[in-house]
Amino acid sequence: MFEYFYMRPDALSVWADPVVRERLAWYYSVMRNEKPAKFVIAKTIEVDIDPYDKTISLEELWKIHAKYREVFRKILKEIKEGKYELDKTSVPRYSFLDIKISIAYRLYSPCRLCARRCGAERFKDRRGICGVGGKCIVHSYFHHLGEEAPLVPSGTIFYGGCPLKCIFCQNWDISQAYIDRGEKVSPKELAEIQKELRLGGARNINHVGGDPIPHIPFILESFKYLDINVPQLWNSNMYMTREALLLLVDVIDIWLPDLKYGNDKCAEKYSLVKNYWEIVTENIKYAHDNGDIIIRHLILPGHIHCCTKKILKWIAKNTPRALVNIMDQYRPEYLVEKYPERYKEIARRIRKEELLEAYRLADELGIVYRPIS
Ligand code: SF4
Repeated sequence: MFEYFYMRPDALSVWADPVVRERLAWYYSVMRNEKPAKFVIAKTIEVDIDPYDKTISLEELWKIHAKYREVFRKILKEIKEGKYELDKTSVPRYSFLDIKISIAYRLYSPCRLCARRCGAERFKDRRGICGVGGKCIVHSYFHHLGEEAPLVPSGTIFYGGCPLKCIFCQNWDISQAYIDRGEKVSPKELAEIQKELRLGGARNINHVGGDPIPHIPFILESFKYLDINVPQLWNSNMYMTREALLLLVDVIDIWLPDLKYGNDKCAEKYSLVKNYWEIVTENIKYAHDNGDIIIRHLILPGHIHCCTKKILKWIAKNTPRALVNIMDQYRPEYLVEKYPERYKEIARRIRKEELLEAYRLADELGIVYRPIS
């Protein structure tokens, strides 16, 4: 543990920044075990039905979810204000978390977890466009020291598959090309992985990939078996349906979304998705309004005007509490590296003046990025 902070001293010094402390207050308190993680709270809220009863319709389950969400939000508020202590000894037979798990398994077959809504019959192990079938696939997990200062050491779990098809993906092997080379794990095993990471010193559990969206049912179920306290971090492209987001929003303590493109044209060209802007910005806004958040923006070469500027302006207006990581580490990878002639305009690293232009605009807009970038 000590050697981690020796390698990343900023992981300690960043907490001296009052803005970081204030904006990540919930995450900080869970990280230090001063407050229970949201999934721990969700597990203590008893529900008076069997959520796995197949005779209950999905519509009915959503209504029950909405009812218990009110209870959850009231308890969360009181816990934040120091007016409520969780009774961790009481383990109900079925909880608010079980409702979420039950809905998630219904949403995954035919699948509409991500905004592609491709409808793959994943119960029958049919793969969706994301490349994931009926099982949770984990490629690796470890204490990641390369994440933002407040997050490291981050207990990172790399899942296989991704709804986006980025032609420059740095994790293209696990997200697109060799998804099956990962290990198939059960929700119980996934909980054991999380426990091992936390007990080894992780500040959080960082669900990433590929992307964790196709794995939502397994991740939610793993929380049922996870018997320790740890902040849950969602590290994702956020190209998910509103239904999927509603399941996550009460169990994720800190969000780490990507906001890559400032328009649908660039998203379709480089990640082969439609309606990117509306879907992703609405989801990020909802996450921001319901939790702590660090937004990542990877600057693409030649995309300052069409993407970076629009994104930074949107962040300043719509998610003013967000900390932002303006990322300069783009490098041509995957198909761009293989076919540089075909993708000439992004077959290079960003220029210094592009980075400075992004910083200048962020400063002008009052965006807090320096402690994080
Ligand atoms: S998560 Fe995968 S299977 Fe589900 S809708 Fe998206 S692409 Fe299809």
